[in-house]
Amino acid sequence: SVMKTRTGVLAMVLVMLATVGAWADHHGERPNVVILATGGTIAGSAETQTQAGYTSGQVGVDILIDAVPQIKDLADVTGEQIANVGSQDMSDAIWLELAKRINELAADPEVDGIVITHGTDTIEETGYFLNLAVNTDKPVVMTAAMRPSTALSADGPLNIFNAVAVAADPEAQGRGVMFVANDDIHGARGITKTSTTHGQTFMSPDRGLIGVTLYGVNRFFRYPYTLHTTESEFSVEEVDALPRVAVLYITADVSPDLIDSAGANGAKGLVTAGVGNGNMTGPALEAVKRAVAKGVVVVRSSRVPSGSVGRNVEVDDDEVGSVASGELNPAKARVLLKMALLKTKDPATIQDYFDRY
Ligand code: ASP
Repeated sequence: SVMKTRTGVLAMVLVMLATVGAWADHHGERPNVVILATGGTIAGSAETQTQAGYTSGQVGVDILIDAVPQIKDLADVTGEQIANVGSQDMSDAIWLELAKRINELAADPEVDGIVITHGTDTIEETGYFLNLAVNTDKPVVMTAAMRPSTALSADGPLNIFNAVAVAADPEAQGRGVMFVANDDIHGARGITKTSTTHGQTFMSPDRGLIGVTLYGVNRFFRYPYTLHTTESEFSVEEVDALPRVAVLYITADVSPDLIDSAGANGAKGLVTAGVGNGNMTGPALEAVKRAVAKGVVVVRSSRVPSGSVGRNVEVDDDEVGSVASGELNPAKARVLLKMALLKTKDPATIQDYFDRY
C-alpha cells in the first residue's frame, strides 16, 4: 500500500505539472501579454514633476513598457498603440477598433492576456463596453493613472505592473473585463471614478472588488454576478457605428424641453440621470412619454453614486414606457442602451438586458 500511495502522489504531481505546462508550454516560460495603449494621463507629460497642469496622451506604448522593466519577470510583453488621446476624447470609433483588435488577439492561441492603458475619465464606460463586446475568457485588464508619467510618485508604472500580473494569471480567466489600479482589481461593470484629483479615486460601490493584487501576487474574491464577455449576446464584429444615445442630468425643476430636444436632435435613446431612485418632475415624465411615443427608448438611471434604480418603484415604468437601469450609472446605462439598440427598440426586451447585464 506504500507503493500505491507513492504512485498516487506521483500521478497527482504529474497532473499538476501537466496543468501548469499546458499554460506555459506553447511559449516557453512566461505567458504572453499584449498591452494596447489608448492614451490618458498614464501616458501624459508635464513640464515639471510637481505641477497640476499637464497634457494627456503624449507618451507612446514603448515608453510605458520601458518604464516598468520588472514586467519581464511576469510575462513576455508586446505593445500596440491603438490611440493616444485623453479619454475625454474617447469615441465610438475607437471603442469599435479596440474591441475588434482584442477579439483578434484573444483568438490567437499564443496570447494569454491583454492589458489596456486608458485615461481615467471614461475608463468605466470603455471597460463596460468591452465587457459586452469582447468574446473571450482570457484576462482583459484595463489600467490607468491619476498622475502623468513625468510626475513625482507617478502611479502608472506600478499600475501597469499589477495589470500585467493579473493579465498573466490563469486565475483571472472568466472574470470579465477588469480594471486594476492602486492594488485593487475591480470589475468593469462596478468601477466608477469618484474624485476628480485624488489618487484613490476608483471605487466599486455596489458589489465590491473582484480581488486585490500586491507586487504581482493576486488574490481573487469573486466572479462577476452579471453576464459578460463569452456569455454576452452582443457583438460588434459586423458593426461600424453605434446608435446615438444622449444622457440628461435631472435637477429640481428641470426643463422638460431638454427631453423633447434630445429626440428631436436624432438620439435613438435617452438616459436620464435622475434624482434619487431615477425620479424626475411630473412635467419631465410627460416629456418622457412624448419621447417614447416617438420611438426613443428612455432609460431611467440616477445621479446618485450608488444603489439601484428599480422598475415601478416611484415611477410607473409600465405606464410611462421607460426602462429602469438597475445599478448601471448614467454613463454605463448609455453603453448598454447603445448595444441594445443594435438589436431591438422594444423596451421590454431592453429592460431584460438591463436586468441581466
Ligand atoms: N483626462 C485624463 C484622461 O481621462 C485623466 C486621466 O487619465 O486620469 O485621459
